[in-house]
Amino acid sequence: MTRSHRQTSIRLISDRTVNVASPGENWELIREFGQDVFTDEVMKRLLPAEAYDDLRNTIDQGAALGEATAEAVANAMRSWAQERGATHYTHWFQPMTGLTAEKHDSFLELSGGQAIIKFDGSQLVQGEPDASSFPSGGIRQTFEARGYTAWDPSSPAFLRRDTSGCTLCIPTAFCSYTGEALDEKTPLMRAGEALQREALATAHALGHNAVRRVYTTVGCEQEYFLLDKQFYVQRPDLANAGRTLFGAPPLKGQELDDHYFGSIRKRVMAFMEDVDRDLWRLGVPAKTRHNEVAPSQFELAPIFEASNVAVDHNMLTMEVMRNAADRHGFACLLHEKPYAGVNGSGKHVNWAIACTERGNLLNPGSTPQDNVSFLYHLTAIIAAVDTHAPLLRASIAHSGNDHRLGANEAPPAIISAYLGDQLTAIVDAIVSGRSLNESDGGLMHLGVEALPPLTKDPTDRNRTSPFAFTGNKFEFRAAGSSQSVAVVNTVLCTAAAESLEAMRLKLQAKLDAGVQHEQAVAETIRETLTAHHRVVFKGDGYSHDWVTEAESRGLPNLKSTPDALPAWVSEESIALFSKHNVLSERELRARHEVACEKYNTHITIEGRVSSHIVRTMILPAVLAFQRRVGDAVVASKAAGIDDTSLQGQTALLKRLAGLYNRIDADCAAMEAGLAKAEGIEHAPDALQTFKAEVLDRQSQLREGVDEAELIVEDRLWPLPKYHEMLVIY
Ligand code: ADP
Ligand code: MG
Repeated sequence: MTRSHRQTSIRLISDRTVNVASPGENWELIREFGQDVFTDEVMKRLLPAEAYDDLRNTIDQGAALGEATAEAVANAMRSWAQERGATHYTHWFQPMTGLTAEKHDSFLELSGGQAIIKFDGSQLVQGEPDASSFPSGGIRQTFEARGYTAWDPSSPAFLRRDTSGCTLCIPTAFCSYTGEALDEKTPLMRAGEALQREALATAHALGHNAVRRVYTTVGCEQEYFLLDKQFYVQRPDLANAGRTLFGAPPLKGQELDDHYFGSIRKRVMAFMEDVDRDLWRLGVPAKTRHNEVAPSQFELAPIFEASNVAVDHNMLTMEVMRNAADRHGFACLLHEKPYAGVNGSGKHVNWAIACTERGNLLNPGSTPQDNVSFLYHLTAIIAAVDTHAPLLRASIAHSGNDHRLGANEAPPAIISAYLGDQLTAIVDAIVSGRSLNESDGGLMHLGVEALPPLTKDPTDRNRTSPFAFTGNKFEFRAAGSSQSVAVVNTVLCTAAAESLEAMRLKLQAKLDAGVQHEQAVAETIRETLTAHHRVVFKGDGYSHDWVTEAESRGLPNLKSTPDALPAWVSEESIALFSKHNVLSERELRARHEVACEKYNTHITIEGRVSSHIVRTMILPAVLAFQRRVGDAVVASKAAGIDDTSLQGQTALLKRLAGLYNRIDADCAAMEAGLAKAEGIEHAPDALQTFKAEVLDRQSQLREGVDEAELIVEDRLWPLPKYHEMLVIY
């Protein structure tokens, strides 16, 4: 395709007219919220009272679902879905691919040759997809390829509308024939149970005896890029690897700071409105939309929800965005670093612990009793982050995120916690054993007087911290934009359960030794904070000094995925996950293997795509331009122009020939590395080889190619350039 073709299609797309909706119609959209969801309210309306109560008991208390109830729910769900046009149903699950999976079955059955509609309790509760093509990390042998999907009643069923049809989606967990987890959902739910168990015991130990249910809440700020679809299809790297493997910096990047919160272009707004509407119908509470820092980068944030639902809703959000982009002539890029040299995309995971009876436990509150509970839970989380920092790092490790972390645009790979000035002062005072008094800013005697109201710290804009306390929740900012946040939540819940347990045992020991309750609580907080104070950091996480200081504090700095993934199978991790019944050692090892395999495969694909692009697109383009220049030199000489007058042209010719050789040689070196890497098994210990032999050599190769892009005649360059892709007309 020549460049003039590209210009034409840009114009065609920008000629689209934008629909103008009346205000009334817009309010209708908000009223459509949850229309495609089999919500609690719908269940209450459609189910016999007894079945509804039974189901609520399952949802709230995790009690087993009776057969008769399953039958009643299936019946109600089917008729509700059928009325809305659904012909099919699917168990919607999240295998270890990091994506969602679905296999549709119609409601159609034959009875005596007649078509009838059927969907019963057993079809609702359990499905039996062939698990053999999903990653299992060795758990599933081919002879026992069956996998089971089991309905998760805590996440509501919903309808997925496609061009002409509609499918009932039933959120499910996915496990093997032998009952081992093959998905991201099962460990997430088990970790939720572990946290609930420990947090309940804690609540009771602190004297909050009425507490019955504790859960975590999550709100994911999702960043993404849009670009014109026609550019996307012309870039084999974007289509196959999700990121551009080549590309010189854009002529205009983010230097002017003119994109962040800037006014949103009409075409993009039309896309965002579509996304919001689709999400609202699905019951996803999309709330905030804005331009992000990099050109053509945007963000969507929902209102937070219980983790299990929020994880599903984030997966749906990514899917809805991709589909809506397609309808609007865009491609939606969820990769962490689609373009080198401009900011990449993350997913800030806002996270808190809440209980039905007392609300958000990370809300400092205004009474001494609330303050103590707040400090106690805050301490437990600080301890969890310190103790399990390598695991937290591993939970967000994958090839895409490596291009972002520590690159002065995203938090460093060193895990630390930021508390804001006021809270840091309180924590420092507690650790130093000082009583919290007026000189600390009107503070308290732990458990006697109330904390001053914690003002939301303006320095919370310290975006350099991976794990920041922002008033009444933590914000884990190191997650990648494309990742499922199920894994992060699984680790956070399990690690928090572990520290809550450790603190409770410490507290109990003190009580048993006759220490008075209030003092025992204060001592437990102080001792735990003292042990884990090193992880609290309020400085600039991007600075070099922090790297040195973190090292002297003994904090791990796991720079890349190959450095980070081994933490999954450390002795500490195995003990942690087994103890809290979240993942057995076998399940954990399987997960680790899947993550390693995924890394190696991504790197391999990037290597192959690079080789393809260089050999079939870049080198021929360099050669074509070299020939044009060579022809010009020959013709000029033939016309009698002397060598001195042709200095500029011959220098260019030499530079092109030199670049050709360099790119050719760098490509050959990367191909040799690729062959070597592909020759060894994609086992965990191969990670560093894939990085050194393929990834690092690919970066080297890129340098020559990006240099060539800047001198080869624009018309001959085979790939859309950054300055074209990053501008939406
Ligand atoms: P910011 O200052 O970071 O923009 P916001 O208050 O706008 O903070 O919240 C950002 C995200 O955090 C939103 O998705 C919001 O719903 C979520 N959030 C707020 N409170 C909580 C909470 N208690 N638990 C989990 N997420 C929360
Ligand atoms: Mg935020």
